[in-house]
Amino acid sequence: MPLTDGQGAFSRQFEPTPDPASGGFLAQFGASDESSEGFSPTPRGYQPGRTKYVVVIGTVMSGLGKGIFSSSLAKLLKDKGLSVAPIKMEGYLNIDSGTLNPYRHGEVFVLEDGLETDMDLGTYERVLNQNLSRRNFVTAGQIYTEILERERRGGYLGRDVQMIPHVTGVVKMRLRQLAMTGNEGKPCDVVFVEVGGTAGDYENGFYIEALRELAFEEGSENVCFVALTYILEPSILGEQKSKAAQLGIKRLMEAGVQPQLIACRAKNPVNDKVMQKIAMFSNVPMRRIFSMHDRTSIYSIPDAMREGGLDREILSILKLHDRVNTLQEDRERITWSTFTQRLNAPRTHKVKIGVLGKYASLRDAYASIDKAIEHCGTALGADIEIEWLDTSDVETLARAKELVSKFDGVIVPGGFGMRGVEGKIRCVQAARLERVPFLGICLGFQVAVIEYARNVLGWTDAHSTEFDPATKHPVISELPDQKKLEGIMGGTMRLGAQDVQIASGSLARMLFGGKDVVRERFRHRYEVEPTDVEALTAGGLVFSGRHPKHPIMQVLELPLSAHPYFIGAQFHPELTSRPLDPQPMFMGLVAAAIARREPEFAQSEMGRRWVRAANGSGATVGA
Ligand code: GLN
Repeated sequence: MPLTDGQGAFSRQFEPTPDPASGGFLAQFGASDESSEGFSPTPRGYQPGRTKYVVVIGTVMSGLGKGIFSSSLAKLLKDKGLSVAPIKMEGYLNIDSGTLNPYRHGEVFVLEDGLETDMDLGTYERVLNQNLSRRNFVTAGQIYTEILERERRGGYLGRDVQMIPHVTGVVKMRLRQLAMTGNEGKPCDVVFVEVGGTAGDYENGFYIEALRELAFEEGSENVCFVALTYILEPSILGEQKSKAAQLGIKRLMEAGVQPQLIACRAKNPVNDKVMQKIAMFSNVPMRRIFSMHDRTSIYSIPDAMREGGLDREILSILKLHDRVNTLQEDRERITWSTFTQRLNAPRTHKVKIGVLGKYASLRDAYASIDKAIEHCGTALGADIEIEWLDTSDVETLARAKELVSKFDGVIVPGGFGMRGVEGKIRCVQAARLERVPFLGICLGFQVAVIEYARNVLGWTDAHSTEFDPATKHPVISELPDQKKLEGIMGGTMRLGAQDVQIASGSLARMLFGGKDVVRERFRHRYEVEPTDVEALTAGGLVFSGRHPKHPIMQVLELPLSAHPYFIGAQFHPELTSRPLDPQPMFMGLVAAAIARREPEFAQSEMGRRWVRAANGSGATVGA
């Protein structure tokens, strides 16, 4: 009788059963006895209780900022010296987020290992200042694919494959594998699980069931459920109402999950009467109900949580007090409060940056660019106004000049598809001629090459084969490896982190603080045509970042004699920008934008570090 104490014994009841048909799959899982209904997979060497789990489930509605909540809480524990690993569980059947429309889902965030994920992973990386990998992101599509492929290989011979125990089993396995490897390959202290959607959604039901099972197997001291709910405040009533929150939490309890802690999202601080009602109806003591009302900045949330004692309650629930390193916590607190003070301090500079893209009406489509600019604003003390513009109707150079000249700096971001490309080419030309600081990202980098080929080299029909397959001057063409994969959607791009060799004496070398190799993240199918590099270089374009071995151009720039700040990257610099460590190419852009408005800025301490000047930082461009 395996269902014993609910304290972790269940998962250890089963002796590994070698499975000859699938090369030992069940043995690897250490699971499943033919005669038993149980299937509780654990990786070899897994010790229940070593890693704790915090599970965040939304109720009432989506869009409450589960990712921000979960990452802020994870940060508080990380600051205490605990190793943390977040995981986002998506209910959709796509294998990754690569084919999702940014217009509907927000940007596609690319991890070091090349997985294309939801933008929430970006929030985790930024708040935790930690690189994530494919272990930190799971979709229903991944789970089902794994099971169906195994079924075809004969991995379940003799069994009907079921939602419980097989699907929930794979979910638990993924969580436990992360527990064992989430700290740079070693076991971590706490796994933070964020379930996509809200309790009661059809598509996330199996995740909630798997987590219920996990809590039962690991024991109540090892898994903490947090319900993130929403308190309505209808303007006609003028008061907060708890009913929707009560019903939402009830939904969770119907699924067998008792939250130990409840966080109430709301516009205004949640009043005691409402919290008492929620406590009463959900069996959660008042001290474990928290108001998570709107704040001006997400970066103030960790401090707000700490003041409310949320982190202490988590430590008590999971009995983690003895793993805390108070010295480290004090240090991290000071670092973070220095950052938040700088964030809230009055800004001495003011600049306007234009982002000339396609999804101009939706900020989420460029979430990381938005954040990267914000990081620079804080670091440089600049109040940055960002304007998002669609370039589809920029039909003349005059119009482009008029538009670009409104800004102190412009960014042409990444993108796919023809719409707006000609407008972007004109805007880059305008930025080059008007000497407006420019940063081109991915498609923006490619567009800068096309513009240079057309207008400086005089190859008037120069184009990318993405947009004009018949052009005589395909200065941007498909990567050889990608050609073989044509016709397959998803997973056909050059994805993930790669080394970039930075040329000495270049603007890029100065920005990257003298480093000769940096690592950045890519997501593209096209590249600069290697046979055109010589002509472009002879024409004055500098390729200052290249792949260390292959002829892949990764950074371009113009010399100082031609332009104060003109740089482009085939990679996505926005993906590696962190609040405490802003990405250098963005820093350079914002600094150049400030210097455009205030030339004396170049002589300041920050200016000397970030502004390229003939007499300044020793950066001489050539190479
Ligand atoms: N469409 C271009 C390519 O595939 C640029 C991609 C991007 O900007 N992410 O190469």
